[in-house]
Parts: sequence; structure tokens; C-alpha cells
Amino acid sequence: MNVYDGWRIAAMLEHHGFVRTDAIPDADIIILNTCAVRAKATDKVFSALGRIRRAKKPSALFGIVGCVAREAGATAFRRIPDLNFVLGPQSYHKLPQIIENPDARLLNIDLGGLEKFDQLPQMEKSPLVAYIPIQEGCNHCCTYCIVPYTRGRELSRPFDDCLRETLHAAKTGAIEICFLGQNVNGYKYTDENGKTYRLSDLIRETAKIPEIMRIRFTSSYPTEMTDDLISMFATEPKLLPFLNMPIQSGSQSILTKMNRPYSLELYTDIIRKLKIARPDIQISSDFIVGFPGESDDDFEQTMKIAQQIKYINSYSFKYSPRPHTAAAIMPDQIPENIKAERLAKLDNLLNEIQREFNNSCIDKTFQCLLEGPDKTGRHLIYRTPFMQQCIVDTCNNAPALARVKITAANKASLRGKLE
Ligand code: SAH
Repeated sequence: MNVYDGWRIAAMLEHHGFVRTDAIPDADIIILNTCAVRAKATDKVFSALGRIRRAKKPSALFGIVGCVAREAGATAFRRIPDLNFVLGPQSYHKLPQIIENPDARLLNIDLGGLEKFDQLPQMEKSPLVAYIPIQEGCNHCCTYCIVPYTRGRELSRPFDDCLRETLHAAKTGAIEICFLGQNVNGYKYTDENGKTYRLSDLIRETAKIPEIMRIRFTSSYPTEMTDDLISMFATEPKLLPFLNMPIQSGSQSILTKMNRPYSLELYTDIIRKLKIARPDIQISSDFIVGFPGESDDDFEQTMKIAQQIKYINSYSFKYSPRPHTAAAIMPDQIPENIKAERLAKLDNLLNEIQREFNNSCIDKTFQCLLEGPDKTGRHLIYRTPFMQQCIVDTCNNAPALARVKITAANKASLRGKLE
């Protein structure tokens, strides 16, 4: 979501005649697009702002957009007095106001709903993978999560708007569409005639666009994985056989404390149905370790479920208490050293499972999408249908979509040859 917001901000500034630079001392405007999900990310923002204000030219405007802006609000100006703007994730389209009036201080952390989508200039060219946000905010209110506060209540964009943006991306260069939402599979839009559209309808329509060869969506909430959506994996070959469906914990009592009221049976049953629909489907998850009250036994159940489901790619985090959340004031907060120990143990297991899956890909051939050159410029990075990075030697006119034979694997990536 932040990558998408970053594109839109860059496109909006280009529309105002700005050009990109990597050098802070050259910049006329410097924007930190921020994430508030964990405390560490928020802390990094303020230390980066300190560095930026020393390095920038005196006339340059600088400020923050996104969830830290929403969380910090006016206090950001107290911490960094010469900051020019603080704009929340649903008000960054107001950025031109500070360009027109650079001596002002711009603060807007309103939850303006979907207004920004109507006001931002259209992107001229799409990257090969186009992110299409179809839904903003979240109604689930997991007790650890700051997102309902920073991005507001859940809102689905009109179906026609989503399709129009998808078509425009396809006509301007996209090959893959990734639908985005904090709770993407909860997408639900009812038009003026009373017809209700869901994510499965969007996928079905998108699959008809000839330029689009790959479709995916993130992030999914388990109980919203409805049968119409699961059946898409059987009927739409363009839908990639890969799904991020965070479980967060393998302990039923911790899930209840997290206000994620699904049973482990329901979760595993969804995976069973997905495998019937698409036998090669692979699942990834997010995990939180050290949630308040998590016992050794609760943690062992997380290890057990990770082993059972064999997630091929996961994100695991130490629980981080966040303002405006219920879990931050729960008793039995877990000491930092225990969180760190549990995280290391879980990461070891997840890495082992990932390596095993990567090894199982050797000698197979996948249709992969070009991501771009690696840092050395000697290799190209492609993405497999399971979102693994696959590195191939650079060649002239490398196709955007290529059949790649996997020749080697390690934990983090694959090596391959273009066929
Ligand atoms: N529904 C959104 C949530 C974004 S946050 C999505 O899935 O995209 C991404 C992940 O960060 C969550 O799935 C969760 O595992 C982790 N997370 C959220 N709040 C956290 C907290 N307070 N401490 C640690 N990890 C957290």
C-alpha cells in the first residue's frame, strides 16, 4: 500500500513539474512516506527527519505523509519545529497546497475516505506490476493493530473505478495486477442499482483483459475467504497460485485475545479447499510472537501450525505495543528477551521450510515476470508464480514475461536460465 502511495505522490509532483533526485541536498521537496505498524518504524522516521533537516538546502520543503503523520499529528511539529507538512494516508493529495504556499505549515490527518482517488492525477505509465487499491482501512480491530486508527474504517472503492484504473494500467504497460486492501478479500461494493460486487467479480473481469497475464491480491483475512473467491483459483488460470493469508498465531487462546475470532479448524479448512481448487497453491503468512500473555505452550502451537501448513514465505514480528490499541494495556506483557528468543526460533523454522520449497523447484520451469536488474547490474531478477525471486544472467532484450528453468536454490532466492 505504501509503495502505491509513493507512486501516486511521485506522479502528482511530476505533474507539478518536479523531477526525481536521489540526492537530498539537491531536492526542493523531501517527503517521508511512513508506516506506523510497529514502534521501530515510527522511531526511524524521526531520526531520519533529523538527518534530513541537516542535509537539505534551507529552502527545501520537507515533511511526512502516511500513518506516522496520522499518528503523530501536530506533535510532529513540536518534535521537528521546521517541518513543513504532516499529511495522513488519506490526505496526501493535499500536498500541492504547501507547494503553492511554502511559508505555511500544512497539517491534515483527516480520514477523507476515498476522496484522494478522485483528485490525484492519472499515472502516465504503469510499471509491469500495477498495484490497484480497491479498499481502504479495516473494520476488524485486531487488538494489536494501529491500522484502523491510522487508515480508518473499511471503505470499498466503486467497482467501475477499480476496473477503470486496472484497464488504464493494462493499456499503459502493466502485465500483472495486484489488488490491494488492508482486508482485500472483504471488498464489497453495492452500486446505485443495488448490485453488489466482490473481489471475485473484479478478478473475473480483470482476467478478460488480454494484456494482463497475472493477478494476485493482498492481504487476506481468513474468514473473508469465501467460496466464490476460492473457486477463482480453479477457474482463472491468470490468478497466481499464491496467497498471503496471515494466521498471526497458532494458539486459539492468543487468537481470541488478538480479536481474530477464527478457529484453527476453519483456517486449515480454507487451505484444504484452496488446495482442491488449485493443487499447486502455496500460502504465506504473517506471525506475531510475544503477544501479551503468550505462554511457552502458546508459542509451541505457533511452531506447530507453521510446520503443518508449510508456509513458503512469511513475515514474523515481535509484538510491538502501539498507541490506540487494546493490547498495549493488556496485562502480562512479554519481556523483550523472550520475544527475541521466540522470534529467532520461529524464523529458523520458517527459513528451513522456505529453503525446502525452493529446493523442490529445481529443474522445474515457471513463467516468470521481470522485476528489473539486481544491484550489480549483471543479473536480472524475475518473480515466479509463487513470488520467489529468481536470478538470471543479464541478456539483451530480456522478455518481460519469460519461461525460466530453475537451476539452483537457496533460502532467499532461486537461480534460473531463460528458456
Ligand atoms: N491487514 C494488514 C495489516 C498490516 S500490518 C495487512 O495484512 O496488510 C502487517 C503485519 O504486521 C500484520 O499482519 C501483523 O503480523 C504485523 N503487525 C501488526 N501490528 C503489529 C504489532 N503491534 N506488533 C507486531 N506486529 C504487528
